Amino acid sequence: MLSTPADQHSLYIDGRFVSSTGDERIDVIDPSTQEVIARVPDGTASDIDRAVVAARRAFESSPWKDTSAQERGRVLFRLAQIVRDHAAEWAELETRNNGKPIVESEFDIADVATCFEYYGGLATKIHGDVIPVPDNALSLALREPIGVAGQIIPWNYPLLMAAWKLAPAICAGCTMVLKPAEQTPLTVLELAKYFGDAGLPPGVVNIVTGAGATGAALPTHGDVDKIAFTGSAEVGKTIMRAAADTLKKISLELGGKSPNILFADADFEASVDGALFGLFINQGEVCSAGSRILVERSIYRDVLEAMVEKARQIRLGPGLDRSTKMGPVVSREQFDRVRSYQEIGKSEAKVALGGGHARGDGLDRGLFIEPTIFYDVDISARIAREEIFGPVAAVIPFDDEDDAIRIANDSPYGLAAAVWTRDIFRAMRAVKRLRAGIVWVNHMQPTFVEAPWGGYKQSGIGRELGKWGVEEYLHVKQVHINLNEQPIGWY
Ligand code: ADP
Repeated sequence: MLSTPADQHSLYIDGRFVSSTGDERIDVIDPSTQEVIARVPDGTASDIDRAVVAARRAFESSPWKDTSAQERGRVLFRLAQIVRDHAAEWAELETRNNGKPIVESEFDIADVATCFEYYGGLATKIHGDVIPVPDNALSLALREPIGVAGQIIPWNYPLLMAAWKLAPAICAGCTMVLKPAEQTPLTVLELAKYFGDAGLPPGVVNIVTGAGATGAALPTHGDVDKIAFTGSAEVGKTIMRAAADTLKKISLELGGKSPNILFADADFEASVDGALFGLFINQGEVCSAGSRILVERSIYRDVLEAMVEKARQIRLGPGLDRSTKMGPVVSREQFDRVRSYQEIGKSEAKVALGGGHARGDGLDRGLFIEPTIFYDVDISARIAREEIFGPVAAVIPFDDEDDAIRIANDSPYGLAAAVWTRDIFRAMRAVKRLRAGIVWVNHMQPTFVEAPWGGYKQSGIGRELGKWGVEEYLHVKQVHINLNEQPIGWY
């Protein structure tokens, strides 16, 4: 076990673990028992300032300023290897802290390594352009790192969300201050122990733990050039406003209410399975969760029955138990929030399954929520419009393709959507008409570091992952080189 109740953690600033300037600490719990497993500093604005000063210095001085793309690539490959070397340990820690089933943590940690590897490979492929212009001149577009990045991440995929932020920023040559979620800071603090071994000079990556107020010191800081945030739409809007005073570049990956559309011609078993996987994976704590399940009316009753039958068998338990298919939700606050939506749902729609918290069988001490399926949900209902971020499904019938697309697009969000059909023409029509940043056909949730990730509408700004992810950390500089040796001759 890596963490014991006595585990006290520090901040990682300028290449060292240091104490906070404040005395406040945050209890970090195991949500399957609610026991405190560690304490981390509730970082202050002056901690953030120290970290930003270190990041600025590292950005502007050797060795990082002069690091070649090849060297940055090698740093990222070493980070990937360090993650692989600790995969079993860190998967266990992730599960203890977040609650998710251990098998899911193992996938997540493998994805962390893959993410560092991808950006390790990309580092040497970032280059500018030569633009054909008239007048005997050479016009260039150079790519330069944007500077100091402030990165704020959520608790649903703790180390993976850290990797999605750190890897492209290192790849681009930026320096950074990352604030993990207050609920789940432990795995990234473990990784920080190896930043020096990976070859990161002091100050390039800084980790400041703390709650929302700690994060709020980043978008207002005058020496932070860019903010990358993943979390709720509400906090995303606050960050956008806060970043306006200093006109920072921002990227936001926010919430969703993603539609999962099941047409009658789809493979029945596969689409029912996909409806459950699309929502209940990771306890429903997924920004792209398929929380609106749209079902063609001719198969509506059969799908609902089959969903209930299968969802009833989802085994709840502590994530470290390998037979567990759904762990506890992450925190008491999240538990109360999901429970309140279950009650709202009962007043708005019919309950097909669940609707409360799960008890018995060793679950009583933990934050376990029953997999819950509401049906005959009106599209104006709160449970059909608001992000719940828990294992609560809203099943909605539709009449035909137009009706399905209309309902799917009737949302302030536009992160992801999925379509289940065997008709290629229908699938492609849906792909074109759905207003979402990610569309899956006959699957839901597969995510690859190579492909772009991000939302339309109020689901965000910018794209993470792939070659798009690194663009968020780069400036483009136009260079014009006059090849005429004579004066301009205008005056
Ligand atoms: P969730 O609702 O999923 O917990 P939040 O958007 O509240 O998501 O939190 C995501 C991240 O944003 C966390 O690291 C949290 O501490 C941080 N955060 C919360 N409020 C603010 C704020 N006002 N400014 C900056 N960061 C914040």
